[in-house]
Amino acid sequence: MPDQFSDGDRRPALSHDTARRLRSAFGDRVGHRAPLARLTTFRTGGVADWLLETRSPDDIVTAVRLTEDLGIPLTVLGGGSNVLVGDGGVQGLVLRVRHGAVARVDACSVRADSGVTINGLVRWTVHRGLGGLERWAGTPGTVGGGIRGNAHFDGRLLGDIVTAVGLVDSTGRVARVPADDMGFGYDVSRVQHSAELVLWAEFRVAAGAVADLRAAARRSLAFRKRTQPLDRASAGCVFQNPRPDDGPLPDGVPRSAGALIDLAGLKGHRVGGAAVSEVHGNFIVNEGGASAREVRALIDRCRAAVRERFGIVLREELVYLGEFETEE
Ligand SMILES: Cc1cc2nc3c(=O)[nH]c(=O)nc-3n(C[C@H](O)[C@H](O)[C@H](O)COP(=O)(O)OP(=O)(O)OC[C@H]3O[C@@H](n4cnc5c(N)ncnc54)[C@H](O)[C@@H]3O)c2cc1C
Repeated sequence: MPDQFSDGDRRPALSHDTARRLRSAFGDRVGHRAPLARLTTFRTGGVADWLLETRSPDDIVTAVRLTEDLGIPLTVLGGGSNVLVGDGGVQGLVLRVRHGAVARVDACSVRADSGVTINGLVRWTVHRGLGGLERWAGTPGTVGGGIRGNAHFDGRLLGDIVTAVGLVDSTGRVARVPADDMGFGYDVSRVQHSAELVLWAEFRVAAGAVADLRAAARRSLAFRKRTQPLDRASAGCVFQNPRPDDGPLPDGVPRSAGALIDLAGLKGHRVGGAAVSEVHGNFIVNEGGASAREVRALIDRCRAAVRERFGIVLREELVYLGEFETEE
């Protein structure tokens, strides 16, 4: 499912009317032909026809209504830490959802706007002696991206501590959705299928000692440092771990995409500037100057090798945005 509200078959976003109306709504904050690579942790990809960095949920709702009215595609980027942007760039308006507020709702919940970073939310809660989010320390990206993909760490899902989410649909209608209606599962939320955008989320918290919460956050950071290639440009895990119904595995082989890629002999394997990390088999790293086409070719090679060796077809956790060259 593409992360766009509509597909343009040419580049209607470049019309004068589009330019005038985007500028009248957002002024100089709207960029034109804006490079996206620097806005992603993979550091690859082409340009956006139009780019707007949002400051609040209201900006998101205004942009949704305006692009719906203009009939141009809308694509959302949070922290850009789980996406591969195509070399051909992204048509229409790209929203870079940033900034926003965190506030206490009541004794046992906090609300964070979708542009708040997960790390910012962790710091905010830990500092106030509110426990629940500390183990998510070091997760790149924003609240919106974390909700969309239901970020996971150490066997837990972010959705498990969510109580409600604010969503806007493609017509601009805003709703408060209880967590039970969010369709949360491993790497899954309803947002992936509904084309709704996340405006904010509420999280369950409980009183805790600041020192204990800080210690738990530090343990998460240390674990990441040990197990992930944090000194390289990447988008985190490329593939989801296979589910039991994806097929049997030989005794002793873990249901871990990284382990399967490693056992298929692909650690260190390269296509151009893209390489399978030596530290973690499920990370592809940009060694410098990798194109999206090279990254995608390496992803396809990993999938083919794992399928050949284990009969399991890996599915991407990472999201493709924009235009990719097709292989001849
Ligand atoms: C070093 C490293 C370590 C990582 N570790 C983990 C980990 O432990 N666990 C884990 O789950 N992930 C991990 N990731 C992946 C990534 O951090 C998470 O998936 C994160 O939640 C993505 O958030 P983001 O804001 O960067 O989203 P983006 O990458 O910007 O976007 C991802 C998807 O979410 C959509 N999206 C973004 N914002 C919104 C919004 N407001 N409303 C609707 N859709 C939106 C985008 O359109 C896109 O489809 C890691 C990545 C890196 C680089």
